[in-house]
Amino acid sequence: MATKILLVEDEEKLARFVELELRHEGYEVDKAFDGRTGLDMAEGGGYDLLLLDIMLPGLNGIEVLRRLRRASQMPVIMLTARDAVMDKVTGLDMGADDYVTKPFSIEELLARIRAALRKQTAQKKEENVLSCGDLTVDVSRHRVSRGGREIELTGKEFALLQVFLENKTIVLTRDQLLEKVWGYEYMGETNVVDVYVRYLRGKMDDPFDKKLLCTVRGVGYVLRDDA
Ligand code: CA
Repeated sequence: MATKILLVEDEEKLARFVELELRHEGYEVDKAFDGRTGLDMAEGGGYDLLLLDIMLPGLNGIEVLRRLRRASQMPVIMLTARDAVMDKVTGLDMGADDYVTKPFSIEELLARIRAALRKQTAQKKEENVLSCGDLTVDVSRHRVSRGGREIELTGKEFALLQVFLENKTIVLTRDQLLEKVWGYEYMGETNVVDVYVRYLRGKMDDPFDKKLLCTVRGVGYVLRDDA
């Protein structure tokens, strides 16, 4: 799946140029031209990285970053004006991963994007974070969020979701799920899988437009983000 980058930049000419270069590199790109729209889109989730200008109409970049960091750890690279040392310091204090100073060369920007994405991947691996689209599960901390919103799951719901995430895009039968989550010795109702899938959907799919947990008729269920 292509890496998705959100670019929040009010200089439309610069934004278009960066967008074209990023697409050329194989990234998917969405643009926002003001801080508030950018924040909404970033919080909507589904992005792998945010390129964030500081001087923006609506909310400025620092404020966007401050609000975004309440719920999201997505990599953020700030785009700063040449002499704005304070902005850089504030941005890094607020949790930006990196910054590039305007005017920047596209090669420098691309290198910083690659570095930030690499860091993120390594961190996720280390922290045992699983994700599917905008759904993120921190296995070690037992925390689930989607689009920046925390989701409370019971132990069994969490175990079921974890199995789906570890088998992303693979269709799992009811028997497989029963075995993985409830164990071989489970002697209760056989429709327990469907019941728990319904509970799970009620929390991680129903409140959202895009559905991740899909029914494969006559077979079972699959978690995927391209449905
Ligand atoms: Ca600007």
